[in-house]
Amino acid sequence: MTPDHEVLIVGAGFGGLGTAIEFNRLGIDDILILERENDLGGTWHVNRYPGLAVDIASVTYSYSFEPNPYWSRLYAPGAELKGYADHVADKYNLRRYMRFNAAVESARWDDEEQLWSVSLAGGETVSARYLVTATGFLSQPYRPEIEGINDFTGTVIHTAKWDDTVDLAGKRIAIIGTGATAVQLIPELAKVAGHLTVFQRTPIWVVPKVDGPIPKPVQQLFARLPIAQRIARAVNIGMYEALIGGVIRFRQAKRLNLHRRPTAMGIKHMRRQIADPELRRKLTPDYDFGCKRPTFSNDYYPAFTRPNVRLETTPIGHFTPTGIVTTDGNETEIDVLVLATGFNIWDSNFPAIEIIGREGRNLGKWWRDNRFCAYEGVSVPMFPNYLSIASPYSYIGLSYFTTIEAHMRHIERLFGEMRRRGARTFEVTDDANTRFLDRMTAKLADSVFYNGNCATANSYYFNQHGEAAILRPTSTISARREAGRFPLNDYTYAA
Ligand code: NAP
Repeated sequence: MTPDHEVLIVGAGFGGLGTAIEFNRLGIDDILILERENDLGGTWHVNRYPGLAVDIASVTYSYSFEPNPYWSRLYAPGAELKGYADHVADKYNLRRYMRFNAAVESARWDDEEQLWSVSLAGGETVSARYLVTATGFLSQPYRPEIEGINDFTGTVIHTAKWDDTVDLAGKRIAIIGTGATAVQLIPELAKVAGHLTVFQRTPIWVVPKVDGPIPKPVQQLFARLPIAQRIARAVNIGMYEALIGGVIRFRQAKRLNLHRRPTAMGIKHMRRQIADPELRRKLTPDYDFGCKRPTFSNDYYPAFTRPNVRLETTPIGHFTPTGIVTTDGNETEIDVLVLATGFNIWDSNFPAIEIIGREGRNLGKWWRDNRFCAYEGVSVPMFPNYLSIASPYSYIGLSYFTTIEAHMRHIERLFGEMRRRGARTFEVTDDANTRFLDRMTAKLADSVFYNGNCATANSYYFNQHGEAAILRPTSTISARREAGRFPLNDYTYAA
C-alpha cells in the first residue's frame, strides 16, 4: 500500500520546521505537517502573555543555518520569535506542507503495510511511511485541581492561553506559580494591577539578565558580516555550556568548590534589589541552583517591593466564588486568577499523543510502567520509522535549537544509510537503546540532580520514577558529534 505521505510531522513549531527542512535537504518533498493550533510557531504562537520574551540570548536561540541579524534586543520579545518562525517557513517554502486546526489524537504502526496510521480529532485518518512528533516539551498546559477552583466566578487565565480581551487595569489579580513564565509576567501584572497577590509554593533562583537593545550598526554588521554573529553565538554558547556544565558535572564543580557560585550570584542579585530581609528570606530557594530550570530577570525582585504587590507563601487551601483561602484561614478576594502553573510533561506530554508501535506497544504506558528513554533522544525500539524531537534525554544544553539541530543531523545520517541500503524501514535496536540509557544514567550520577540538594525543588526535570530524564547530561559538542557519528548498526533496516 502506498501511504498518503512519505513523512508526517506533528507540530509546526521550531522542531517541526527544522525537521521538514532536513527532509527537504534529503530530497523528500512529500511531507504533511499537522498542527492543532491555527498558525505555525508552536510556543511562540501559543504564548502571548505580557512580558513574553526569550530568556536564552537570541543569537543562540535561532537556527545556526538561518541567523537573523535583526534581533532588536539581546533577548528578543516573543512576537519577534513568532516573526522569525514565519520567516523560516516562508524562506524554506514550508507552509505548503501545513494543515492547521488539525489535532492529532493517535498514531498506530501497521506492521503489515509498514506505515503509520494517524488519527485526527473528528475521525479522519492519514497514513505515512515516517512519523515525527515535534510537539515540544511544554505543550500541554497544567491546570491544578485545587478545591473549589471551578466555583470561582471571576476570570481565570492560564498563561499558555492568554486572553488579551481581559482588562487587567486596576483589578485585584492573583497569580499562582513562580516559574520562568511567572518571572516574566509578574513585573508586567504589577504595573497594571490595582493589587497583585503572588501565591508562591516554591521559590525560584533568579540571576541577572544581561539584556538591552542591539544597536542598528551592530545589526548591520551582523547582516554584512555573518561571521561576526557566528562568533557572538559561539561565545554565548560557551557561556551557557559553562552554566549547564555546573549542573551536569555538579560533583566535579563541588570538588573545585565552584558549585555555590550561581547560588551566590542569585543571592547577591536579590540583596541588590530587595532591602527587606523577611521578603528576601521568603524568596530564597532552599535547593541547589540547577535542580529547577534557572531564570534570568532584572525586574522580578523589584516587582515585590511595589506597594500593590504581596507575596503569599502560606499554602492555598481552597477557592471560594470570590477568592482564595489559604490554610491559615485568610481569604484574598480577587477579580482575576492567573494560572502560571506550567505544563504537564510526564503524564501527558511524553508522548503528546497516543502512539502504538509493534505488537500493540503503547509508548506512553511503556515509558510510565518501565523507564523513560529514547535512543539519542530521538528513537525507540518497537517503534519503527518513528522519530521524536522532544523526548527523554533529548534536551541538549540550554537552547532548544541545539536539540533540534542535533536531531536534524541524526536524521541526515540515518536516512543517508537507509538510502545506501535501499531500505525503507528502520528501527533502533533494544541493545543500543539500553546502552544509551545506561550511559545517560551513569553520567547523571555526577549531576546536581543526584549530588545536590533537590528534594524541595519540585522540579519538572524529575519524572514519576524520580529520574531526571529530560536533560541529556553531556556537552552540546559531544551530543552534536554523536548525532553525526552514531554506530549505523544501532538500527536495523528493512526494504
Ligand atoms: P513551571 O516552571 O512548571 O512553574 C509552574 C509554577 O506553578 C511553579 O512555581 C509551581 O510550583 C506552581 N504550581 C503548580 N501547581 C501549583 C499548585 N497547585 N499550587 C501552587 N503552585 C503551583 O512552569 P512555567 O513557569 O510556565 O515554565 C515552564 C518552562 O517554560 C520553563 O521552565 C522554561 O523552560 C519555559 N519558559 C521559557 C521561557 C523563555 O523565555 N525561554 C519563558 C517562560 C517559560 P512548584 O514549583 O512548587 O511546583
